[in-house]
Amino acid sequence: MSDTYSGEFYCVKCKEKRQAEGKVVETNGRRMAKGVCPVCGTNLNRILGKA
Ligand SMILES: [Zn+2]
Repeated sequence: MSDTYSGEFYCVKCKEKRQAEGKVVETNGRRMAKGVCPVCGTNLNRILGKA
């Protein structure tokens, strides 16, 4: 099962919020979204919490 997430990520490199699409993965029981900054290409992570 693979989920996608579309929304805001915080880019640590740009130090700004970015709108991006990413995959939802589960790590240690936590759902995280992983995306890529459309501006600088840095990997973005966002903790989604429990759905
Ligand atoms: Zn960025």
